[in-house]
Amino acid sequence: MSEKIKMITPLVEMDGDEMTRIVWQKIKDILILPYVDLKSEYYDLGLPNRDATNDQVTRDSAEATKKYGVAVKCATITPNAARVEEYNLKQMWKSPNGTIRAILDGTVFRAPILVKGIEPYVKSWEKPIVIARHAYGDIYSAVDTPVEKGCKADLVITKPDGTQEILPIHDYKESGGIAMGMHNVDSSIESFARACFEYALSAKMDLWFSAKDTISKKYDHHFKDVFQEVYDKEYKEKFEEIGIEYFYTLVDDAIARVIKSKGGFIWACKNYDGDVFSDMLATAFGSLAMMTSVLVSPKGYFEYEAAHGTVTRHYYKYLKGEKTSTNPIATIFAWTGGFKKRGEMDNLPELTRFGEKIEEAVIGVVGDGFMTGDLALISTLENKQVLDLDEFLKKVAERYETL
Ligand code: NAP
Ligand code: MG
Repeated sequence: MSEKIKMITPLVEMDGDEMTRIVWQKIKDILILPYVDLKSEYYDLGLPNRDATNDQVTRDSAEATKKYGVAVKCATITPNAARVEEYNLKQMWKSPNGTIRAILDGTVFRAPILVKGIEPYVKSWEKPIVIARHAYGDIYSAVDTPVEKGCKADLVITKPDGTQEILPIHDYKESGGIAMGMHNVDSSIESFARACFEYALSAKMDLWFSAKDTISKKYDHHFKDVFQEVYDKEYKEKFEEIGIEYFYTLVDDAIARVIKSKGGFIWACKNYDGDVFSDMLATAFGSLAMMTSVLVSPKGYFEYEAAHGTVTRHYYKYLKGEKTSTNPIATIFAWTGGFKKRGEMDNLPELTRFGEKIEEAVIGVVGDGFMTGDLALISTLENKQVLDLDEFLKKVAERYETL
């Protein structure tokens, strides 16, 4: 075998829980360590170690991501009451993803992996559609209330000097009803915009941003203005240099265009739109086990992971000594995403190429009909062979060696 691929800067490696922790180790043993002289700074985000370190390990791993720029993360348990008991935890630790996101100030982008035989429900989609959701404010931190008949509701802005601006919302003289007050802040909208522009540059894909500025003339219009301002000042030239486009469009128009499109772009959405449309896209593209996720910070740090969780049911089978047909693809793509980005940042084309070839190998193997059980259920291929986790990874390694 030829010499292993060398690395310069380490990847931040965030290990996780249950079945995905098993998958993680097997991916390393079968698909990475034989080919790459892996340099990683290892953080064990498995629940027992988060508990032992009072969750310090999660914060440390996020700080390390700031230092090195690229992290790969395994799925982790977000504890609930049952987990506190199961793992005898000192407390119900917060979601690691939430903690990491708060430290890196990022936006999450989700992209489906397309393979032959797993057909999107929308026939025209040939390339992935990446969705970026703003994860701050709007109705997610709104104040809302029932209002009785005869009441009035106003929006009151209190200025630093104590004077007030009062904007009438509604006079409920005919009927009682409901009212809501919501907000957002420029710093968050700007961060969101920058993360989207950074991702577009990195993926070399067009960026769409949609909102409802025709109806929401101040609120949604402000989002549109912030995006345009950040674009004109900081990204226009870079976009033109590599030949990609940014545009704003009304959300209704975006929906129509998305459905008619061939895919191959990033769709930036306000918080609620992103919540709803990301679930629609995941389903329409086929499978949660084929959905990748990357956290991009406005400063250009990248953290790659699979969108799915720790696949608990498979873990209990594994613990009983049974073979499982767990799908490792999204977790493999977390690693390849990390290698490709690391290779690009460190100017190591061989490392980038490694990431690309492993992805090619995965797509090739599934396209030839070798897949895990979850995919076999939805694949339209005629000759399908269901492999267990180890068999699938070995098949990918064999294919990689022929590329
Ligand atoms: P999940 O682990 O994504 O699994 C839900 C179901 O989807 C599985 O039971 C399995 O169906 C199927 N599935 C998901 N990924 C699969 C894969 N790679 N291969 C084959 N089948 C797959 O979600 P969950 O059961 O709601 O959550 C389990 C744990 O994961 C929780 O403790 C949660 O906190 C954590 N979680 C972590 C993250 C993260 O770290 N980003 C995200 C979500 C959830 P079948 O059982 O029918 O085969
Ligand atoms: Mg949702």
